Amino acid sequence: MASLPDDAADGDVVRVHDARGRFYATAYLNRRSKIVLRVLSWQDEPIDADFWGRRVRDALSLRGAFEPTAGRRLINADGDRLPGLIVDYYAGWLVVQISTLGMDRMRAAIVEALREVVQPRGIYERSDVPERTLEGLELRTGSLFGPDPPEFVEIVEGPARLLVDIAHGQKTGLFLDQRLNRQAAASYARDRRVLNCFAYSGGFSVHAALAGAREVISIDISADANRLAERNLALNGFPQSPVIEANCFDWLRAASDRDERFGMIVLDPPAFARSRSALDNALRGYKEINLRALKLLEPEGILVSCSCSRPITRDAFATLIADAALDAGRDLQLLEDRGQPPDHPVLLAASETNYLKCVILRADGTRPA
Ligand code: SAH
Repeated sequence: MASLPDDAADGDVVRVHDARGRFYATAYLNRRSKIVLRVLSWQDEPIDADFWGRRVRDALSLRGAFEPTAGRRLINADGDRLPGLIVDYYAGWLVVQISTLGMDRMRAAIVEALREVVQPRGIYERSDVPERTLEGLELRTGSLFGPDPPEFVEIVEGPARLLVDIAHGQKTGLFLDQRLNRQAAASYARDRRVLNCFAYSGGFSVHAALAGAREVISIDISADANRLAERNLALNGFPQSPVIEANCFDWLRAASDRDERFGMIVLDPPAFARSRSALDNALRGYKEINLRALKLLEPEGILVSCSCSRPITRDAFATLIADAALDAGRDLQLLEDRGQPPDHPVLLAASETNYLKCVILRADGTRPA
């Protein structure tokens, strides 16, 4: 596995052999990357139009039938054994995100297969991810097929209607990995005063409001995100629901000082730890927001706490929340230990693909000190 012939160029598809010369895998190569070889197939097969047609159909059949108005991840990179490639579906539009050199070379074949199999209205590329620079690639966005997407594509997510800004939104426009967690969290929202921290386009807020929350307050540091959240809340019949531009760390502290209380708090921060070296600071950050939230929770209040940091394991996440609860003098019951929806499959051999943590907890009946 360790010897790389000179005639194989970075980005090429290569046949990988084991030490005894037996075929091992079909992979693509990049010497510049920390991961020099990424496996595309365990078969000795050409990576051609046929391969792409088969793999796109396979990914689609795993997802089963869904409404044409839905939002779904169609290809989840390593989770679909297609490292470096994400494809998201938003009500007929496809968004492609390519993060590696090997995959970048295959753009044309990928687009062709997606056109044929999915027959989308258009395909838009959002390869504006920093990982590309580690692969020696420029960031890239723009239409790959069909017209440019409209400013907002409306999708239906359970009872909610959500607007997706494909060209300028965060990620590919929506955090599709939280699709089922938004709906699960909403089932606890009835009659509660809900605080949605790190709200982005307000998905958790809209679902909570639709489920009968007494009041929903959404907070995000990004003005663009907040404009989108306001639009989404209005679209679903909640134009008065407050959306606040603030740093959640500061806002939670100030709310404590004001002695505010909430019946349900959602914490869905961005990945504080993208690498192992950033882990200690990240753990402190997660603990801090959880502690602050716990101090604001009413007796029997619900805490929905999420983390998408890959280096933080499920156990470590549970432990840090337990630590925060101890510091806050609260007892927590774990009601739901959730992760990614099945359109974001985890590759069991690659534990970092199992990145999303979302726990739903209930605090004890005593008021915080
Ligand atoms: N819960 C959202 C996704 C949240 S993504 C959903 O379901 O769609 C994380 C969000 O946190 C981003 O919108 C980002 O703008 C925001 N953010 C990052 N740091 C922040 C901070 N310190 N305070 C408030 N918001 C922050």
